[in-house]
Amino acid sequence: MGKKKLQQRSFATRALHGAKTYPHKGSVALPIYQTSTYRLETSEDAIRYAKGDPNVFVYSRYHNPTVKEVEEKIALLYDAEDAVLFSSGMAAITTAIQTLVKPGNTIISTPALYGGTYRWFRDELENRGVHILYIDSDALDRIPSLADDTTALIYFETPTNPTLNIVDIAEIARQTGKARAKTGKPILSMIDNTFASVINQNPLAMGIDVCVESATKYLGGHSDLLGGVVVGQKAFCQKVRSLAKYLGGCMDPFAAFLLNRSLATFELRVQRQNENALTLAKSLEHHPKVKRVLYPGLPSHPHHRIAKKQMNDYGGMVTIELKSSRKYAPAEAAARVCDSLRIAVNAMSLGSVDTLVSIPVYSSHVFMSDEELRKHGVSEGMIRISVGVEGVNDLIDDFYQALNKI
Ligand code: PLP
Repeated sequence: MGKKKLQQRSFATRALHGAKTYPHKGSVALPIYQTSTYRLETSEDAIRYAKGDPNVFVYSRYHNPTVKEVEEKIALLYDAEDAVLFSSGMAAITTAIQTLVKPGNTIISTPALYGGTYRWFRDELENRGVHILYIDSDALDRIPSLADDTTALIYFETPTNPTLNIVDIAEIARQTGKARAKTGKPILSMIDNTFASVINQNPLAMGIDVCVESATKYLGGHSDLLGGVVVGQKAFCQKVRSLAKYLGGCMDPFAAFLLNRSLATFELRVQRQNENALTLAKSLEHHPKVKRVLYPGLPSHPHHRIAKKQMNDYGGMVTIELKSSRKYAPAEAAARVCDSLRIAVNAMSLGSVDTLVSIPVYSSHVFMSDEELRKHGVSEGMIRISVGVEGVNDLIDDFYQALNKI
């Protein structure tokens, strides 16, 4: 069936069936090609491979039928030309960015990034001669004036971690276009779409060139696999694949199998997570120990209008900031709440069917100075909640009893 026809199917159908190109007929489930290498029928196959025939499999660091099937499915969900899977979100991000930048280049970004990405920029890329220019995400119109001959990439996240700020995606695309026109350089825009995931927002449909996602989070959704994906145009993904062969961060076939299984319930899971998050966020706004609830679906959120414009739904991430208390220091109060939860799990990830909580200053934003935390908008009394699919009244009761302990 042609890609156009497949694309007309509903999101749920695409997430369950993909393009169904399993080479072995008769198998309802996706087979796991747990093999590192492939038997060539004759050396003719090796010649075909050498000439670039994508249908000849030779070695699983380069390609694997199970992984390929899931790549095609994710490309279909993004309505993109291609997708490349990796062993983790960081493998996807670092490979995609290294495909684009070389020493002497500049990246324009914002400090409100996943801590791992920010620290990689700070501790590694800067030492390799790649300079990062940080702007406020409310000042996107600075992009063209900052862009020059060295600019290779405009890199953002939205919603941001853990403050859940929303950056105007169409505006990033527009300003990147202006930067390209000014410099005459092929500057690309890239968004880490992990927090919303493709079901809640598709930046490619808003003019962004490349999306990266940690598949460990919403795409995987069960806290049992690590993965990452780069999605975009075929020509770019081919370059990413070539570099991935050297860097070696390929996805394992078993992880791809698990990911495919997760995608079958992607819509069901995320719809429930979205609903639970909104209900929990509304409820926590009324708790006397809570100073602020950050959730893009709340009318009180400073960027609610932009979220409404660009998101299909507001996602499963909620961050709360505790009121200061005379009894406990802010980080101590946050720890006490997390330790008192009986259903939500104190664990450093997100997107799972289980509700997970973490304290940003001890997790995603560890090893940062006070000045950096201030720039990232992170405070010690914050708790990040990744809302799961539990009964929402159980979650509300759980958070209320834990908050009552401080
Ligand atoms: N991007 C975001 C927004 C994340 O939250 C994370 C992990 O928490 C990553 C990327 C990295 O993904 P992974 O842990 O799969 O390498």
